[in-house]
Amino acid sequence: MSFQNPVFIPGPTNIPERLRKACDMPTIDHRSPLFGQILHPAREGVRKVLKSDSAEIFIFPSTGTGGWETALTNCLSAGDTVLAARNGMFSQRWIDMCQRHGLEVEVVETPWGHGLPADRYEEILTADTGHRIKAVLATHNETATGVKSDIAAVRRALDAAGHPALLFVDGVSSIASMDFRFDEWGVDVAVAGSQKGFMLPPGLAITGFSAKAMEATKTATLPRTFFDVADMAKGYANNAYPYTPAVGLLNGLNEACGMLLDEGLENVFARHHRIAEGVRAAVGAWGLELCAVSPELYSDTVSAIRTPEGFNATQIVEHAASAYGVAFGTGLGEVAGKVFRIGHLGSLTDVMALSGLATAEMVMADLGLDIRLGSGVAAAQDYYRANRTPLRAAA
Ligand SMILES: *Cc1c(COP(=O)(O)O)cnc(C)c1O
Repeated sequence: MSFQNPVFIPGPTNIPERLRKACDMPTIDHRSPLFGQILHPAREGVRKVLKSDSAEIFIFPSTGTGGWETALTNCLSAGDTVLAARNGMFSQRWIDMCQRHGLEVEVVETPWGHGLPADRYEEILTADTGHRIKAVLATHNETATGVKSDIAAVRRALDAAGHPALLFVDGVSSIASMDFRFDEWGVDVAVAGSQKGFMLPPGLAITGFSAKAMEATKTATLPRTFFDVADMAKGYANNAYPYTPAVGLLNGLNEACGMLLDEGLENVFARHHRIAEGVRAAVGAWGLELCAVSPELYSDTVSAIRTPEGFNATQIVEHAASAYGVAFGTGLGEVAGKVFRIGHLGSLTDVMALSGLATAEMVMADLGLDIRLGSGVAAAQDYYRANRTPLRAAA
């Protein structure tokens, strides 16, 4: 690997210089008003990025996976039923976590490459007249397959069924890169991590809780200590954590939210969309197909690209690393060896994306795939030239 090249994995993402500097700070007293000057603005920034006026924001020294656990253990009790669709590796891992916590999971098997089946959710919720189901899990962006699901449709399914279950949304690879509407979609717990759209090093689980979710924490009995939001809320009231916070990362998070809000969330989303469209134009020019089966499912943060039958896609990732010092993502689970992934989220420009596409072409040509050098790059260039936006001062 080279430290010079950007990475094209779907997280951790490239860290802007400004954020590296923000994370690198002297020790301060983490139980003092000075810490509060980092903590509270960071939480306020996250609330805005989630598009919420009133979500309670809890940030743990952890990762997205810890955010999943925060949602489950604070709101649910052993034996509770949750409804979830399995359409990729990340939804699968959250289901597995539920089962290990003694929850019953009603799993809707969904082909990989497809989105969450809101219509099936509605049928199941409508049939659940006894309200056995306490929570619905929704992976907004399935990072394994590059599939974005319609969370508003999941909310409509809950409402149409008149069902009171909580809505937990995994936004680890969507929040801060793709439109996410905590309040409008009636999300009860949202989960993110520091190392994807927030452009920071790994190390923070970032969660938002609705008033309804906060109410559920009062009766939920799953064991929790480290991820207990009640302990955390008490800490926050005293400018502190129940334990030692990741102060540098929180300072970085505060700065990251500032960067995102300065650029403007809609501009951030438009930038991700534009870069993703260029990548998709390249994939089309290569004659390859996405794992996501239809355009409304295409993720603006990651593309999982199918390689020809009989070709081991993992070779692309290995060869890119060893020959060119560039990181792409491998296929996971059911699509291991069948897809490789280009992550296009976080701190990224059109120019950086073009370098990744050019590298992917060299790699595929080296490995004997029928790819004409420059074909995908040209398609992306055409798209970027036609869809240029005014340059903004950015870090
Ligand atoms: C990365 C990711 C996770 C896991 O996050 P970690 O920070 O690796 O624990 C969960 N869900 C989705 C959709 C992801 O992309």
